[in-house]
Amino acid sequence: MKEHFLLKLGEIVLKGQNRWQFENKLKQNVNRRMRPFGEFNVNIIQSTVFVEPQNEDCDLDGAWDACHYIFGVVALCRCRPCEKDLDAIYAAVREYLDDDLLSAKSFKVESKRADKRFPLNSIQISQDIGGRIAEAYPHLLVDVHHPEYTVHVEIRDQFAYVHGPAEPGAGGLPTGVGGRAAVLLSGGIDSPVAGYMIAKRGVELECIHFFSYPYTSELAKDKVLELARLMTRYCGRMTVNIVSFTEIQEAIRDNCPEEYFTLIMRRFMMEISERIARDHGCGCLVTGENLGQVASQTMEAMGVTAAAVNLPIFTPLIGMDKEEIVTIARRIGTMETSILPYEDCCTVFTPKHPRTKPSLEHVIKAERKLDREALIQRALENTELKKVRYHG
Ligand code: ATP
Ligand code: MG
Repeated sequence: MKEHFLLKLGEIVLKGQNRWQFENKLKQNVNRRMRPFGEFNVNIIQSTVFVEPQNEDCDLDGAWDACHYIFGVVALCRCRPCEKDLDAIYAAVREYLDDDLLSAKSFKVESKRADKRFPLNSIQISQDIGGRIAEAYPHLLVDVHHPEYTVHVEIRDQFAYVHGPAEPGAGGLPTGVGGRAAVLLSGGIDSPVAGYMIAKRGVELECIHFFSYPYTSELAKDKVLELARLMTRYCGRMTVNIVSFTEIQEAIRDNCPEEYFTLIMRRFMMEISERIARDHGCGCLVTGENLGQVASQTMEAMGVTAAAVNLPIFTPLIGMDKEEIVTIARRIGTMETSILPYEDCCTVFTPKHPRTKPSLEHVIKAERKLDREALIQRALENTELKKVRYHG
């Protein structure tokens, strides 16, 4: 028999009445994620997603890798299905886990009897299979407390499954159960991590990037598209709205006091993002802001920025240290792209002495010379949509 994958559900199991909605969404998501790798059958039974390749053409390694990035899954096992009988289970262990058992020094067998009709209980299964393994691999010590290697046997409805240690899954909640959010994606380290963290809570993403050609280059735009593509490995395909921001930045430079440049620019970003968000059914804005990191991320400055919009602004990195953010960026694979050296529009026309404790009243006064609405409308008209997906 071929290999199957068992994906274990995370927090979904804590849900009550609406648990089936979470499970349906997860099933849909797993189906979609498996599609590039061939024909798979996907079912959820007893808090486990069963992923079964349907023919020899399936790319099992590609599919297995993709399963590590599906939100809603806490752990996953690549396993060998077999008949529900001790001899067949033992034969599967010998054949499927032979290499692992040869290289381990100690082991134990852990069994799970989900099908209560099976005549032996889990302890009896472990004793039987463990006894046979100990005999066949004389170098192996039995160690039930701290084994180097654990053989798992699961007796399920249709088959018994044999596998080694489970691998950690992506965690979180299935993409799509928590609505949609608009992420303000710069080319930096922080915003991809912020987007990932919100996506992990079951939220679909729409990305927005502000682009100031010729002050920022085509390469900077490509970098952001690549960051978005890397994020889709976790959060599924997305659209990136690329907003032309040059006219607004020049208008601010020409008409506003320098100390407020960044703040006024950020208020425009929020207002434009809010309109794009509403157009795409997003219930919040997400930024990579982090308290105290730069002048525009003091409590007062963030208050002035947030006052430009009515949608909630989620800032999942607000209380983290840079090191913690970098650790996540490395783990999710965005770090290397984030540190490519292209300018972001935030670094164009930066004031020498930005206000760190601005008052909203002063900022509104400083914006007065601008025709905000006309500028916003033209920026929206000059927005380019790019679809990104991980595979192809
Ligand atoms: P990042 O590492 O995400 O670039 P940062 O520490 O450089 O963040 P800022 O440049 O002040 O901080 O930006 C704060 C947040 O504003 C970013 O995390 C991002 O959400 C948003 N942002 C900044 N520049 C842009 C941009 N050009 N397009 C879209 N969003 C942006
Ligand atoms: Mg930045």
